[in-house]
Amino acid sequence: MRRISISTEPAARVMRPAIFIGAICGLAAVFCTPAFGQGAAAPRPQAADDPVRVLVGRLDLERYKATIKGLTAFGDRRQGTDRNRAAIDWIESRLKSFGCTSTERIKYVYDPPPPQPQQARAGAPDPAIASGEIRAGSGGARQRGITAPTGVNNNPEAQADAKLRELNSQPSVPGPREEVYCTKIGSTRPDEMYIVGAHMDGIGWGEAANDDGSGTALVMELARVLNSPDVQTERSIRFALWNNEETGLNGARAYVAQRAALQGREDPPGSGRYPEPKWLGMIQHDMMLFDHGMPRADGTLSPDQRPEADVNIEFQSTSKFADQAMKLAFLFRDANEKYATDYPAAVGHHMTNTDSTPFMDLVPSISVRENERGMQIGAGWSPHWHQPTDRYSTFSDKDFRLGLNAAQTTLAAIARLAGAALKR
Ligand SMILES: [Zn+2]
Repeated sequence: MRRISISTEPAARVMRPAIFIGAICGLAAVFCTPAFGQGAAAPRPQAADDPVRVLVGRLDLERYKATIKGLTAFGDRRQGTDRNRAAIDWIESRLKSFGCTSTERIKYVYDPPPPQPQQARAGAPDPAIASGEIRAGSGGARQRGITAPTGVNNNPEAQADAKLRELNSQPSVPGPREEVYCTKIGSTRPDEMYIVGAHMDGIGWGEAANDDGSGTALVMELARVLNSPDVQTERSIRFALWNNEETGLNGARAYVAQRAALQGREDPPGSGRYPEPKWLGMIQHDMMLFDHGMPRADGTLSPDQRPEADVNIEFQSTSKFADQAMKLAFLFRDANEKYATDYPAAVGHHMTNTDSTPFMDLVPSISVRENERGMQIGAGWSPHWHQPTDRYSTFSDKDFRLGLNAAQTTLAAIARLAGAALKR
């Protein structure tokens, strides 16, 4: 676990930046010699000296909202449709305009499997679960308190807006699929990278604003900030917008199947180019906006973001890299405490049902969400999930602000891990 710095202080905090060394030292503590920070008379660094703070300050609510709104122009972006392909083209053109010019596409084929008869579960069920004493959520979670039904809307008539209904009307067709990513190439370690992802497809006859326009916009906004001409990172960062998440993580699985074996290879040899840098961590973003609390006894939810709303960072305790993923998750929580403006973060150990799952036995992997997937979203805490009401107009600024705080959290953590610095 050499590569994930878990020091609690960003290097910039302990380093006294005499002006001439200010630009030399990346944020990963490993790149800064302690000698830089040992002058007893050194004054405390100002916020303006901390490149992470500068980068986080380049995120803002209106830009984040505008990117979500841009995505909703393509309706629910269901995989295997023209509106899904048009959204991929739009995302790619935005990434290029942000300076993330090295866009590439993964190509794969999606043929839906025939409906399966329900398989009998192997092994005896946990007696506490069988008795109904414990309500099990997915990923190993336990659900508590009041729950509300969840499901996917497949009824076009449930969408009251005729224009949106029309936009979403073309059915998905089996066949070739694409998904786009772009890469910020590291200045000194181009052969290593962090993957920052979200899925751009949706379902439910709405606009997929929260699921997962909110995560896709977050990744796009990070691509904008980190690809500014004055930003340099020691390590590479890949921004990936997965397709086919809603059909079973097929886009992320295709990426892993096609590219895991290419990691760290210089191609062509001697070129200094690494088409697939070695994976150091995978961070997935899915549903970032809505934390209104537990359903009430009558099944309704509070219309307002709860004041104690938080960003939920999850790793999977059964994954091969659980220990490293846990450390990564707490590094994100730490980044949230230092840099996020409004909402705190919490860490859980039941990451599930998201595009980081195919990565979790190959590299430390976490997901970032509005709520825990197994315990809370699965218990009905997100009433617009896969529903016609998942629209831009459904959400308030307090909702969007939770997503912005998740963006601040990931940007700060990734800037530190990848060794971001401002060129002067
Ligand atoms: Zn989702």
